[in-house]
Amino acid sequence: MSAVSRQVVVLQASWEFADEVIKRGSRIFPEEELKTLYACIQCGTCVGDCPSGRRTAWRIRHIIRKTQLGMREAVLSDETLWNCTTCYTCQERCPRGVATTDVIRIIRNIAFEEGYALERHLAVARNFAKIGHAIPITDEVKEKRKRLGLLPVPPTTLSYPKALSEVQKIIEIDGFLKKIQR
Ligand code: SF4
Ligand code: SF4
Repeated sequence: MSAVSRQVVVLQASWEFADEVIKRGSRIFPEEELKTLYACIQCGTCVGDCPSGRRTAWRIRHIIRKTQLGMREAVLSDETLWNCTTCYTCQERCPRGVATTDVIRIIRNIAFEEGYALERHLAVARNFAKIGHAIPITDEVKEKRKRLGLLPVPPTTLSYPKALSEVQKIIEIDGFLKKIQR
């Protein structure tokens, strides 16, 4: 009888990435709240209740665990990261009080900063930079609006060039424009 060989892979936690997420995120969220990231026990409640996870390969529990383990590159380059709808269901239901959604938002910010945004997201961002809307208005939409008794073009940056130039100035000053042009 041949011997069964088993390979045991031991993953050692490195808190470096989790610490970085907390530090960078503390510019937006309270640091104490973000420190709940250390408290995840992998119970799976978040995944079980996640509406996006029911339809996609997105598993928030995996991202939280990989973040705890310091798997920075694997987390930032994971395309499923963008499947979270930020509905906050997981954060409300986590029995350990982990600020899951806020953590994901920070990780996505870091991913975006480091060039991991998907091309389709950049396309939407470029639309915003160009017209002040994520999705351009088509002739078909204009016709539908007219039929509904609305102005064919809404009273937004599409109708007010001055407002559009203000939006464009803001995204230029805060560096967003440069990032989406990379
Ligand atoms: S519900 Fe909370 S403790 Fe459970 S796996 Fe998700 S983040 Fe971790
Ligand atoms: S916030 Fe994201 S991860 Fe959490 S339940 Fe909603 S879609 Fe799922």
